[in-house]
Amino acid sequence: MLRLDTEVQFVKGVGPRRSALLSARGIRTVGDLLIRIPKSYQDRASFVRLDSLHPGQDAAIHARIYQSRMIQTRSRGGIFHAVLTDGTSFVHAKWFHGAYLHQSRTFSAGREVVMYGRVELDTRDRNFVFFNPEFECIEESPDNGANSLDIGRIVPIYEEIGGLTSRQLRRITSSALSDLDSTVSDPLPEPIRTRHQFPELRSCLERIHFPAKTDSIAALNRRDSPYHRRLIFQEFFQLELVLANRRRQTQRAQGIQFETNDAIRRQVKQILPFHPTNAQKRVLKEIVDDLRSPFPMNRLMQGDVGSGKTIVAFEAVVIAIANGYQAAIMAPTEILAEQHYWNAMRILAPLQYSIGVLRRGIKPAEKKELFRRLAAGEIQLVIGTHVLIEEKTEFRNLGLVIIDEQHRFGVIQRLRLMEKSPAIEKLNTLVMTATPIPRTLAMSVYGDLDLSVIDEMPPGRTPIQTVHVTVNDAAKAWNIMREELSRGRQCYVVYPLIEESEKIDLKSATEGLEKISKTFPDRRVALLHGRMKSDEKDAIMRGFASGTVDILVSTTVIEVGVDVSNATIMLIQHAERFGLAQLHQLRGRVGRGRHRSTCILMSPSRLGEAAQERIQAMVSTTDGFRLAEVDLRLRGPGELAGTRQSGIPEFRIANLMEDSALLALAQQEARQWVEGPGDPEALMASLAATSGAGHPGLATVG
Ligand code: ADP
Ligand code: MG
Repeated sequence: MLRLDTEVQFVKGVGPRRSALLSARGIRTVGDLLIRIPKSYQDRASFVRLDSLHPGQDAAIHARIYQSRMIQTRSRGGIFHAVLTDGTSFVHAKWFHGAYLHQSRTFSAGREVVMYGRVELDTRDRNFVFFNPEFECIEESPDNGANSLDIGRIVPIYEEIGGLTSRQLRRITSSALSDLDSTVSDPLPEPIRTRHQFPELRSCLERIHFPAKTDSIAALNRRDSPYHRRLIFQEFFQLELVLANRRRQTQRAQGIQFETNDAIRRQVKQILPFHPTNAQKRVLKEIVDDLRSPFPMNRLMQGDVGSGKTIVAFEAVVIAIANGYQAAIMAPTEILAEQHYWNAMRILAPLQYSIGVLRRGIKPAEKKELFRRLAAGEIQLVIGTHVLIEEKTEFRNLGLVIIDEQHRFGVIQRLRLMEKSPAIEKLNTLVMTATPIPRTLAMSVYGDLDLSVIDEMPPGRTPIQTVHVTVNDAAKAWNIMREELSRGRQCYVVYPLIEESEKIDLKSATEGLEKISKTFPDRRVALLHGRMKSDEKDAIMRGFASGTVDILVSTTVIEVGVDVSNATIMLIQHAERFGLAQLHQLRGRVGRGRHRSTCILMSPSRLGEAAQERIQAMVSTTDGFRLAEVDLRLRGPGELAGTRQSGIPEFRIANLMEDSALLALAQQEARQWVEGPGDPEALMASLAATSGAGHPGLATVG
């Protein structure tokens, strides 16, 4: 008997070799296997007679091989040509690079096959032909194929994985289902299932893989069958339950209450170098209302790159400190933390706070001293990565925590963070994100937080122009740069940083520096990268900010936070290697002053389809929301990097864009459920148990 958490190697047809292949792709348990649903379904329930085929039709046929042969062609591979008949007529099938079919003798005369594909008319000989159709051979089977997995039914088509074909996966999945313990229990609460007519888990798993003849193939292929809907709902519900539970806990907690009086208002004004936009004012008011209430603040501040979140966050910091409390800003990376530190030093300078930073490479003695001063209350604002929380840092009276998620931290990581430090629940927390996801989506994905949106750009911005230049045309890019430099403007040149290989990136940036210095011999060029010591980095950034450096060559360390309004060119090398969110962030480094800015995306001329689309999207719009939509659409499940960048969880079946109605439903049900008598922890555990061990995020939360 198999259970959902049984290792996949115990499924019939999966030996140690296959199980290793599957594990390598995240499929470790029976549950992992079963949650990997078909990518599409084919109607092989009824076969089309060969004498009633017509061109353009997608048809399943069931026929015998009449003859077959290799046609040698000039290109390698040749064409394999088979003629089939079912007694009523003939049809041809051709496979390019088909030598393997010839060798395998799959299509020897007399063999019985099922074929599925589009019927085309060969204009030369007027024959009907399938080009590269899907096919399967029907083995002699005692029941004449009545229980075949491959014919006479709606057939699941799987994405191949670990060298296993769709057909092999069909067999493995089928045997997993038939050996599955019949007592496998359904974790989804019964009232919820009934309310939405969700089928029970076991039959749901059976039918999503092997639908009944009566199931609507159209609904199946739209992922809109009751089975799909239930599994999608369950995935969302699992997340929403965690969020709803947290929300309920914080809503009941006793928080730290701040006051705002005239003196405090004056201090807040002191740090403002400009008039806030209406959106900034509105969001600040929402934050202030939270801070003045007796319950902890739990707010998400969302705003596109350059919308002016930083200053609003610092306004909140001023309120906390003016009330005699300490504040902490946490960033997902050390580089980001440092950038916040630079900003804090600059923006908060008039108030002369004591500001501490937990930076990379800090000496143990310095770190000890920093922690001592935090505990003694000698530091008013501290900035660092989440290590700040994980190391159980002692504060004298921490009153405000700002978590900058940018596009990397993510809901999941934040929840883990909260778990590590339950005390944070009572604190006023402001989460910042630059991920411009649509409002309804944000509400559900950040279901534990109240939402504030800065939906207006500061005035006086001129739109950034974006151009795509291939490396063969590099001169074009240099000309644009030369022109701007001659006007006294400054440029960024960015090289990709792939975290796994910092060394290689460093190499590419160092080489980049040489190249740029050669191309612009009369300009001052400097290099900035993540492995530099903090004070070196500071010096270079200061040089760029004060205008003593014309061109800053860097790895992606400048992705966020850097703010030099005289910089008008952002040249991104190997733009094809960046995700959309990252490109958008980088582009947001320019266009910050009154000068017109240009973002140049440099890439090789040959690009993959997705890279092409990303670059195209960047060229055609600067709207973060539009880009986020493209991003979500392009990013298939399994592209973990993309998801990590967006800071939103990855789902196995669910799709945030397409399934937002079910997401909203899941949020509603989860919030209702946590108000009831049930034990949320227990429900989370049983949901996690059926979601498969290899689930990239959710299973480990809650
Ligand atoms: P975000 O963090 O949302 O990407 P920032 O806070 O870094 O954006 O702000 C982007 C730029 O706009 C900064 O140079 C900032 O000084 C400037 N800025 C912010 N708010 C205003 C405003 N109300 N008026 C003018 N400039 C502003
Ligand atoms: Mg910022």
